[in-house]
Amino acid sequence: MTKKVFVTHQLPGARIHDLARYCELNMWMGPGLLGVENLRQELRGCHGLICLLTDRVDATLLAAVPDLEFVSSMSVGVDHVDLSALSARNIPLGNTPGVLVDTTADTAFALMLAAARRVVEADNFVRQGNWTQKNAWAPDFFTGKDVSGATIGIIGLGQIGQAVARRAAGFGMEILAWNRTSRQVPGVESVSLEELLQRSDFVSLHVALSDETRYLMNAERIALMKSDAILINTARGGIVDEEALAVALADGHLAAAGIDVFENEPVSPDNALLSLKNVVVAPHIGSATTLTRGKMADIAVENAIAALEGRPMIHCVNPDVYR
Ligand code: NAP
Repeated sequence: MTKKVFVTHQLPGARIHDLARYCELNMWMGPGLLGVENLRQELRGCHGLICLLTDRVDATLLAAVPDLEFVSSMSVGVDHVDLSALSARNIPLGNTPGVLVDTTADTAFALMLAAARRVVEADNFVRQGNWTQKNAWAPDFFTGKDVSGATIGIIGLGQIGQAVARRAAGFGMEILAWNRTSRQVPGVESVSLEELLQRSDFVSLHVALSDETRYLMNAERIALMKSDAILINTARGGIVDEEALAVALADGHLAAAGIDVFENEPVSPDNALLSLKNVVVAPHIGSATTLTRGKMADIAVENAIAALEGRPMIHCVNPDVYR
């Protein structure tokens, strides 16, 4: 029997063109993202799903698709998928780790430099015609905070956290890290979460989002940070209590933030963080380079092809399903 696979978006990369040789392929052609209802309709009778992090694969959806045999997500984070519901049905979930590590670490550093040196604020200042003879270079003109030589605290020393540490070493930074499980990395001092927050000039988040890490950065922990510290989030929005962060930034309890990810995406224009000029934001572009997105798509397709051929996926989040 020919298996049916649904892909929730047109994908870059080379491998997607081969997929039709292995299955009956159906792909959402847009425009934009397909919603929950469309996904449920399209997935009916399908054996495989290739999805993005914008597609919520929850227990309700899974109950409506009894034939589903595998899910392959073009992302490393899989918080958009109900993993226990999948595992309960022995459905493997593929993801795309590794290939986006350096790209995402670059984004964390881009946000860190932009927030510390007020790059976006300065850009707006020039474009809006405010750079005049009366309002020009002065000793305190657009002064920011040094990244070089400062102390960075990395929360989550996984692949991306370690790539951030390598960049920080190049900037001559003192590097602190907290990881759930003990991990020794040369040049990185392991400390408790509290000590990290108290000592760091920059705090960069790199843990996966789960029930345990949701609101890890709550009001209490944000209050432990230095008042001139900067918070960078390229992990997942749900790790931070956004309201508490906005209050701290507005009240001067925190100097600035660089944020690539929000609890609800696309972020609402009413989100308090967007009204603060000491916040630099991006629309979840951590892994967004042409090369990296192509590699991620290729892995997502490879995972699907492995499943269609009855082999274990190359990158499987719940390998226990193969036991
Ligand atoms: P990784 O190598 O698997 O690292 C995951 C990290 O999360 C590890 O430090 C891990 O700690 C920690 N972690 C997992 N569950 C935890 C829990 N319950 N409590 C505390 N710590 C926990 O993954 P990665 O490639 O570095 O990616 C990290 C995250 O970055 C992804 O999950 C994703 O959400 C996010 N990301 C965002 C973008 C973007 O576009 N902005 C791009 C790529 C990735 P242990 O070592 O103890 O397991």
